[in-house]
Amino acid sequence: MKNFEYIRPTTLEEAQSAALGKDAVFLAGGTNLVDLMKVGVARPDRVIDITGLPDMDRVDYLADGSIRIGALVRNTDLACHPQFSRDCPAVAEAILSGASGQLRNAATAGGNILQRTRCAYLFDLASPCNKRDPGAGCGARHGENHSMAVLGWSESCIATHPSDFSVPMAALDAVVEIIGPAGRREVALVSFHTLPGSSPERETVLAQGELVVALRLPPSAKTFAQHTRYLKLRDRTSFAFGVVSAAAGLVLKDGVITDARLALGGVALKPWRAREAEAALVGQPAGEALFRSAADIALAEARPSGHNAYKIELSRRLILRTFVAAQTGVDQQPALPGSVFSTQPRVSADG
Ligand code: SF4
Repeated sequence: MKNFEYIRPTTLEEAQSAALGKDAVFLAGGTNLVDLMKVGVARPDRVIDITGLPDMDRVDYLADGSIRIGALVRNTDLACHPQFSRDCPAVAEAILSGASGQLRNAATAGGNILQRTRCAYLFDLASPCNKRDPGAGCGARHGENHSMAVLGWSESCIATHPSDFSVPMAALDAVVEIIGPAGRREVALVSFHTLPGSSPERETVLAQGELVVALRLPPSAKTFAQHTRYLKLRDRTSFAFGVVSAAAGLVLKDGVITDARLALGGVALKPWRAREAEAALVGQPAGEALFRSAADIALAEARPSGHNAYKIELSRRLILRTFVAAQTGVDQQPALPGSVFSTQPRVSADG
């Protein structure tokens, strides 16, 4: 591992000034960054540990009904937050479906959306990777690519974003609060991650020195609380990144859909919001035939990037399952171990 300078500021101002003029990175839970540093993919000169910054580890319910999640809120604390997990059960279950109990205890909300793809070629310094070394080529394009992207990919990069948490958050119109040298700004989570295009080395809209301080959900997020679901399919039952995942939410009145949300994970280099599919659902009586047609709309632009055509059909079936579960209602379906809806002891989520 390359030598680096370690700084632990106690104010936002100190953190920001430490990020200027250096190849600096911010460290929170470290569950992704430290791995990248160990293998030499991340080689910062300066590591700024932000875990000492004040007031960034809180979940706040704001006067207008918004929910503000500090960037340093640990994944476990958010998934098990008594009020939040009932208001946004798909988000809570998405968190619980990711990583292990130990990792969720360390990983943070801000770090979750900022985690990097787990493409094996990125981690293998002997393989070409445009994301690690722009212009080097993409080892995955004609290599082992069965889990790669089917939406939004380019010849430069076919990787996927690994976050579970980001998928329902994107579906619920989350906003990312950012602070940086030019001041504060906000970006919709659906616009926060960038698609690879010809510059896959760029992964988000963050500029050098900018720091994610919070994520915020609008009051409308809670309107989906009774009819929502996050489902994830993976190569093994636990501690694996999703091959594909889906977050769905419905608002129902007398069986008719008055609002709908759909986002997909594991299909692109960002959480993939399917707005046209959502629009096709609104005003219609909920049912399997309708959900099937919404899935077709959501995947109309999908195309294989390698040996992964199966992911398109898998996503189609998963969207249907997720909407059927959402229609059924959160109190009528099996819950993950550790979830607030589970009858099993919480310790089973951490074992
Ligand atoms: Fe690198 Fe992206 Fe290609 Fe993977 S898919 S090798 S991350 S350029």
